[in-house]
Amino acid sequence: MTKSAQDLLVENEKLAKELLAVHADDIDRARRFPRQNIQELGRSGLLGLDVPLEYGGAGAGIPEMSEILERMAEACPSTAMVVLMHYCGTAVIAARGSATLKQSLLPAIARGEHLTTLAFSEAGSGGHFYIPVSEVRRNGHGLRLTARKSFVTSAGEADSYVVSTRKAGASGPTDLDLYLVAKGTQGFAVGKPFEGLGLAGNASAPMKLEDVELEEVKRLGSEGSGFETMMEVVLPHFQVGVAAVSLGIATAAFQAASAHVVARKYEHAGGTALAAIPRVQFLAAEMALELRSARAYLGETIRRVGADDPEAMLDVLGVKARAAEAALAVASRAMTLGGGAAFGRRGGLERIFRDAQAASVMAPTTDVLKEFLGKACLGVPLF
Ligand SMILES: Cc1cc2nc3c(=O)[nH]c(=O)nc-3n(C[C@H](O)[C@H](O)[C@H](O)COP(=O)(O)OP(=O)(O)OC[C@H]3O[C@@H](n4cnc5c(N)ncnc54)[C@H](O)[C@@H]3O)c2cc1C
Repeated sequence: MTKSAQDLLVENEKLAKELLAVHADDIDRARRFPRQNIQELGRSGLLGLDVPLEYGGAGAGIPEMSEILERMAEACPSTAMVVLMHYCGTAVIAARGSATLKQSLLPAIARGEHLTTLAFSEAGSGGHFYIPVSEVRRNGHGLRLTARKSFVTSAGEADSYVVSTRKAGASGPTDLDLYLVAKGTQGFAVGKPFEGLGLAGNASAPMKLEDVELEEVKRLGSEGSGFETMMEVVLPHFQVGVAAVSLGIATAAFQAASAHVVARKYEHAGGTALAAIPRVQFLAAEMALELRSARAYLGETIRRVGADDPEAMLDVLGVKARAAEAALAVASRAMTLGGGAAFGRRGGLERIFRDAQAASVMAPTTDVLKEFLGKACLGVPLF
């Protein structure tokens, strides 16, 4: 029986507590893809969250996705990032896939039997992922693609990849197509792992597509509509999703630091806890304010996106930057409060601090988002 989004929120809470949080540190140390977590999330129906009801999914949207990812990231950020990229890929397939593609894939995604992801970034354009330098070639037999994708979450682990590229004979840098490419397609190869500072379990690696044959039926949207799909479908899911993951990480940092300052007591001062020191209270207040204001902004962004508010795009741009900065600020203060215990590996704060760095670097980076936001505020064209 298909589970409702409400059932999935309950399932997520249970799995976050009993499975994801339990293995987060060993996944990080072993730099292991969280396969068991993904299987259990699949069995529970959570990987089908944004699959439409008619294909057996929960038919949920951005608000539920945000709530679920935040809780997942509080427990295991690597798992949350894998799931976020899967939700983004699924949203594109559901919104722009051909009827044949949707019928062949969405029921499997809803059953938790198919993991997907996005393969957008290319070395030639870095964080400017919306300007790939690869281009589809048309020959007598069909469509071929050679591309170097620089960082792909779940590389080699996902069953399919939403790949961006310039359309054949593109007239400009944003004249794009998106194609779904299956793992194992001839010419598809995964490079050496990225070995990132944080999110060590998300199997980030470069991918090489060498003269890969593309199928028209697997193009996501009409020819040349890739950029529009990125802006209308990918951007809201991805930006809100990264913001939610950042808030989950920040919450974990806040909770670990709070527990530490309450528990850590000085014998020399008659058993006084760190929590009794005004400067510690001040830092805790700053962390709480970062979290609460970023969460309020995330809620407002989700509301505006849902209401088709003309200002929504400004918030979609801003919300990832704000939440990424909140995660950095909270995690850094948590390290200060955690002292030597946080600097070591046992308490988990050091891992959370490293995980908190990823969102600022993920494209669009915080600086690039602020450039966009500044242009939008000043009426300067974005591209
Ligand atoms: C954990 C993680 C997971 C990822 N997963 C995926 C994935 O699943 N799929 C995918 O496609 N990609 C993924 N990426 C890649 C990501 O989205 C970026 O493309 C990548 O991090 C950019 O790296 P770069 O070194 O090429 O950036 P560069 O483009 O070289 O940028 C380097 C620095 O220059 C700054 N900069 C560049 N242009 C400007 C400007 N105009 N104004 C101000 N500053 C500027 C940037 O802000 C950045 O700080 C992932 C990255 C990470 C860290």
